[in-house]
Amino acid sequence: MKRKIITALICILILALSVLIAAGMLYSPVQVVIDPGHGGSDVGAQYNGRYEKDDNLEIALLVCENLRDMGIEACLTRDDDKFVELKDRCALANRRNAELFVSLHRNSAEGANGVEIWVSSDSPEADTALAENILTALDAVGISENRGVKSGYAMGEGNYYVNSQTDMPSCLVELGFINSETDNALLDKNMQAYAEAIAKAIEETL
Ligand SMILES: [Zn+2]
Repeated sequence: MKRKIITALICILILALSVLIAAGMLYSPVQVVIDPGHGGSDVGAQYNGRYEKDDNLEIALLVCENLRDMGIEACLTRDDDKFVELKDRCALANRRNAELFVSLHRNSAEGANGVEIWVSSDSPEADTALAENILTALDAVGISENRGVKSGYAMGEGNYYVNSQTDMPSCLVELGFINSETDNALLDKNMQAYAEAIAKAIEETL
């Protein structure tokens, strides 16, 4: 009888500890959330068999690694090729009280080149500062064209979901056009340098 009670108590203790550890992982604060756009069945823009989701993930992993090397607590909304809802990406950043949120994407349009960064349509000062720091840093590495910091949404009224639904300063980086050979060559050559530049710009903004 006594043995059964002890066993039950140990089980309860283990369960309670597991819940605490899981909650800690879910809710522990983080400084920066890096969001590789798209993933899984949502490939994003594509060009000649090249998928935006893969470029986004590759650079995001490097940005995160650079941030951690700098001693900055960073996490990703996805670290492999899986589909994650936009609302879950934002919820993660909000739940973990992130100080900054940076979404990484690639653009697509006929005959266009260069890098642009999107912020919320009311252009909050902190968001614009974050975007400008990142764009300046990328420009210093070398991009085909600096298309500037833009506010709102490229496809009409409103804002990018991740910019409107995150509680902290955020921006959405369009790292060149996936249908531009020039931009793809630059990204492939400068992947690590771009990642370092973005990480340093984030550090500067923090
Ligand atoms: Zn995208």
